[in-house]
Amino acid sequence: MAEIAGILKAQRKWFGSGSTRSLDGRMERLNALHRAIAAREAKLLQALMEDLGKSEQEAYTTEIGIIYHEIRFVRKHLRRWAKPRKVKTALTHVGSKGFIMPEPYGSVLIISPWNYPFQLTMGPLIGAVAAGNTAIVKPSELSPHVSAVIAEIVADAFPPECAAVVQGGPETSEELLRQKFDLVFFTGSTRVGRIVMEAAAKQLTPVILELGGKSPCIVHKDADLKLAARRIAFGKFTNAGQTCIAPDYLYVHRDVKVKLVAELKQAIREFYGEEPLKSAKYGRIVSERHFERLVRFAQDGRLLAGGEYDAASLRLAPTLIEPSEGWDAAVMQEEIFGPVFPVLEYRELDEAIREIAARPKPLALYLFTSDPSAEKAVLERVSFGGGCVNDTLMHIATPHLPFGGVGESGIGSYHGSYSFQAFSHEKSVLKQTTRFDFAFRYPSSEKGLAIL
Ligand code: NAD
Repeated sequence: MAEIAGILKAQRKWFGSGSTRSLDGRMERLNALHRAIAAREAKLLQALMEDLGKSEQEAYTTEIGIIYHEIRFVRKHLRRWAKPRKVKTALTHVGSKGFIMPEPYGSVLIISPWNYPFQLTMGPLIGAVAAGNTAIVKPSELSPHVSAVIAEIVADAFPPECAAVVQGGPETSEELLRQKFDLVFFTGSTRVGRIVMEAAAKQLTPVILELGGKSPCIVHKDADLKLAARRIAFGKFTNAGQTCIAPDYLYVHRDVKVKLVAELKQAIREFYGEEPLKSAKYGRIVSERHFERLVRFAQDGRLLAGGEYDAASLRLAPTLIEPSEGWDAAVMQEEIFGPVFPVLEYRELDEAIREIAARPKPLALYLFTSDPSAEKAVLERVSFGGGCVNDTLMHIATPHLPFGGVGESGIGSYHGSYSFQAFSHEKSVLKQTTRFDFAFRYPSSEKGLAIL
């Protein structure tokens, strides 16, 4: 408690001194972060292997590479984003100028999960520092090796009054949330998101919540099934399905279901071989608790593929099932967050749209079709955080698209310029002329003029 309060006090003092304002300083800090990461790449890869069994290729593409790219992108555009922006002046405000000045919130708290423990901690931190905030970062206790490397990187790149890591579990988060921050950026489950928002509300602290949910993957009858299967298997089984935007369940037109399932099996074989449990390219489940939950889900219907598991190494093969109770099955009641893929079918696209729209708004949605009217119907009638047509996951990997949820899947978004916006307050300023003055607005004027 005293340690947390001490760090926050030092950060507030540093922020108050104006030290975070200089753009040169922010650029230098982003460079320092890049250097500190590069110096520990091998350690980081090792830690990602120990915590999640991530292969080097996967760790680089989904964690480290994305962060290098984000730093480069932010550095390239930061000066432009940080400039005050002029806006138009209304007729009633003749002589004045209006502008919007982005300003840092102050001291922010970043709480992150274990599934992409590096990317989901560093991404928000880049935004916070670029926008001129100080930050306390609390990575997940479930990925301890990566959290330790993150602590080293942050300590190397920043003085603690600029950014510091506090390690620990829920109690540490709770303690942090009792402090007064100027913004809380949380990534994790919808359940904990509610706790975070409630704690922040007590301090009237704004929140950005990056949460989860059940993201549907619709495959319409006219889709290119072979291509769809490869892209879906990639999205579902990367990181053993422990991806917030992984397709949670497959919702396929009944005419193409059998063919799609066959193509999915083929794609799984191609990616991970005949024995995925032995593949070095296939990740493991983070904890025993999650492993047991997923094995139960894998048995919640008719098995279409996979189902094998190894409790000793916490590995569960890519598994396709037909849930015995359809939408009412246990596997359809909560976010799966693992390599179990329930397959549901629909007859009419309209039915699929109605079923999905009647449920909480998902973080992601994927649609495979070449029919523009099907695309239009789904995109216009279903609300979701973000997603892809004819692909999975890839919308997260471009800094040009805001990434975030809607409704129960989150509040606010980030990446690229949206990160800068997420961590900045847009201060509006009207600068009035002193060359003349209109008497009509004062009570002494005979005739008023509507100015509001
Ligand atoms: P989680 O909500 O259990 O934990 C996230 C963080 O919150 C951790 O740092 C944890 O220590 C902390 N925490 C746990 N209990 C807490 C409490 N009672 N009070 C305060 N803090 C607490 O989530 P997780 O299991 O680490 O991650 C999986 C979830 O995160 C999934 O639902 C997934 O969809 C979601 N997720 C979302 C995104 C996104 O970008 N939207 C990304 C990754 C994961």
